[in-house]
Amino acid sequence: MTQRESGKIVGLMGGTFDPVHNGHLRVALEFKERLGLDALHLVPAATPPHRQPPWATAAQRLTMVQLAIGNNAPLEVDDRELQRPGVSYTLETLMSLQQQLPPQSKIVLLMGSDAFCHFHRWHGWQMIRQRVQLVLAIRPDHPLRQEDLPQALQSWFSSSRLVDAQTSADFAHSPAGTLWQLAVTPLAISATHLRQLCASGRSIRYLTPDPVWDYIHQNGIYQCKQMS
Ligand code: ATP
Repeated sequence: MTQRESGKIVGLMGGTFDPVHNGHLRVALEFKERLGLDALHLVPAATPPHRQPPWATAAQRLTMVQLAIGNNAPLEVDDRELQRPGVSYTLETLMSLQQQLPPQSKIVLLMGSDAFCHFHRWHGWQMIRQRVQLVLAIRPDHPLRQEDLPQALQSWFSSSRLVDAQTSADFAHSPAGTLWQLAVTPLAISATHLRQLCASGRSIRYLTPDPVWDYIHQNGIYQCKQMS
């Protein structure tokens, strides 16, 4: 029996999404398509570890992801990190998602190349590694070179495989701990840049879907000053 007959392959992309932007959405879609995933969950972090508190509230960030995706979308919003108290650890999210999936299902974790550089500091990172295949989206503003990575990640990175046309077939049979690199359409968009644009009164239109842009203005998030 193949993986497909017995379980699902579900992608998980966590983030602060402060705010969600077209870089997130495009990479999530390409991740799902290229790997032939059954579903792709976007998981906003309620209280993200290892960074300054977000500007927008968790509820606002969740709403923005919902608005960005819209109806009948190929991506799904997963609000489980807002449903539990405390710091939003990915390990707990994985375990909770795993419990809801059919037996033999696999979870694939997607992260940008910037996030991977700090992965060895994540809570329970070795346990995460034992549970998932990890796919790195190489961001144009964060190319990855083995020698620039922390020691703890170097040999793992050197064993990474490139996602190519064969991968969705290989993927279902690859063990947890496999590391992949995915070349995505380069979109050098970051939430930091969007917040800076808003705060300086400049438009973020076309960097994020219109419903998100509208919501930010209506609610005065990120110190946005004018309708543009
Ligand atoms: P910030 O600028 O506030 O750090 P961000 O734009 O990096 O935010 P996050 O919510 O922190 O967004 O990112 C969620 C995930 O999406 C991370 O794994 C990140 O690397 C990835 N990501 C964000 N923007 C892009 C992009 N333009 N291309 C590819 N991956 C991205």
